[in-house]
Amino acid sequence: MKRTNKIYVGSTWKRLRKVILERDAYRCAIGMEGCTGAATQVDHIIPLAFGGQPYALENLRAACSNCNSSRSNKLRRKPSRAW
Ligand SMILES: [Zn+2]
Repeated sequence: MKRTNKIYVGSTWKRLRKVILERDAYRCAIGMEGCTGAATQVDHIIPLAFGGQPYALENLRAACSNCNSSRSNKLRRKPSRAW
């Protein structure tokens, strides 16, 4: 199931996504197991669920789809009272 967040809708995110991918030269900045190395997505270093800034450049990094989805799966699977 995909969680949709309103920050991903609209031109601000679209523009920012491109800025981050270009800044990181389209290379995945996470490098988890199964990393493809080719970034197509942008990851929030501090997840929004933990109070991360949605549009702060320093909270964003380029990510491949493997890293991005395994990272968010891990975060979601871990039951935490913080959210
Ligand atoms: Zn990766």
